[in-house]
Amino acid sequence: MFDNLSDRLGNVFDRLRGRGALSETDVREAMREVRVALLEADVALPVARRFIDAVTEKAVGQDVLRSVTPGQQVVKIVHDELVEMLGGGEGAQAEDLNLAAKPPVVIMMVGLQGSGKTTTTAKLAKYIREKHGRKALMASLDVARPAAQEQLAVLGTQVDVATLPIVKGQQPVDIARRALESARLQAMDVLLLDTAGRLHVDQALMDEMKAVAGVSAPTEVLLVVDSLTGQDAVNVAQSFSGEVPLTGVVLTRMDGDARGGAALSMRHVTGKPIKFAGTGEKLDALEAFHPGRVADRILGMGDVVSLVEKAAASIKEEDAEALAKRMAKGQFDLNDLRMQLKQMQNMGGLGMLAGMMPGMKKAKAAMASSGMDDKLLVHMDAVISSMTPMERERPELMNAKRKKRVAAGAGVDVQDVNKLLKMHQEMARAMKQIRKMGGFKGLAAAFG
Ligand code: GDP
Repeated sequence: MFDNLSDRLGNVFDRLRGRGALSETDVREAMREVRVALLEADVALPVARRFIDAVTEKAVGQDVLRSVTPGQQVVKIVHDELVEMLGGGEGAQAEDLNLAAKPPVVIMMVGLQGSGKTTTTAKLAKYIREKHGRKALMASLDVARPAAQEQLAVLGTQVDVATLPIVKGQQPVDIARRALESARLQAMDVLLLDTAGRLHVDQALMDEMKAVAGVSAPTEVLLVVDSLTGQDAVNVAQSFSGEVPLTGVVLTRMDGDARGGAALSMRHVTGKPIKFAGTGEKLDALEAFHPGRVADRILGMGDVVSLVEKAAASIKEEDAEALAKRMAKGQFDLNDLRMQLKQMQNMGGLGMLAGMMPGMKKAKAAMASSGMDDKLLVHMDAVISSMTPMERERPELMNAKRKKRVAAGAGVDVQDVNKLLKMHQEMARAMKQIRKMGGFKGLAAAFG
């Protein structure tokens, strides 16, 4: 599962990660490849399109510096967007069953024939007993497929969960009523209803689902879909979600070599979380679906993602924002420069900086032309600290005498003080230009 998609994305990002700076063209080029990779993985077209738009917008329109290298930043953005696409909310954790209602809590299983509905019903009953310590009753409402009810009874014995006794000839809605009554009488916590499937979605099936839901008032309506069926799974999900009030999806056969498109499209198409993944024929082969973990697996770049997270955390966001605000107003004194230098050091020096933040290309050029390098950067804080507050706010006051005093105080040459002042001048000029170009947001274009 996801192997092909993983490889394709890996290739795209390997190329991006080697670069110091990324232009908008680089990002767009990479996104074109990502789009093809998604479509080849059977991701539904509108879902792929939305994904690419979201990533491109975030990757190109970076406001304030928050990252490591642009390529790594893009990997992180794609990762977060994958989590989002897979349904990640808070912490990208799996969404469990909602068992809080008054017992018996009814869980209705719906889906096409052969999707793995009956197997999943038994897997869930076992899960509910083992993970939640609740007692469940299972009932098969499938009167269309011969031996469907017997199949559930056999599975029930295997997982040691009670099944509703079979009454030949009884119709689905009546079986649902009887199951509910029986669950109440036996003080069951949960009632699992395994509804009938069909080979294709049809209106009779939908009507039956609605009628069953009408008499059983389910807390959960879980759609079971076979991930191997790719685009078809997406179409099935679309049909069901228009007719019955789904609360979640279970994707079966995730152990197979599906291309992953169903998993990636499901959330968008149904608007409901994927709650579980079936990962085999055995009755314990059921896993909670963690969007975060699945995204990690698809991207296989957990190292980069955590690196970027760490770097982002190392920057004091308020500082960065305050600085950006002052710059946007055209204010940029030596205090601002000092704050920026500190951030650069946090990020690992000049080399890491290129292209990360709008205008940084200009800043880097200013540093190069003023003779600044990583070694000198370390001393600049000392130089600025040796200045009086007034000198920091008005660097034009720095005459020969003041420079000599400051150099002595910081333990550097007067030449180094000059380099700092020159760098400040050039950066202040760059900031003014940026402002003329319409502020930091409008600068996305300059970020190459
Ligand atoms: P139903 O018609 O939807 O009730 O489908 P069944 O539950 O009868 O499942 C059909 C077949 O798929 C059975 O042979 C199951 O063992 C198999 N199956 C169900 N879920 C999975 C899964 O997650 N992985 C694999 N490999 N097989 C599964």
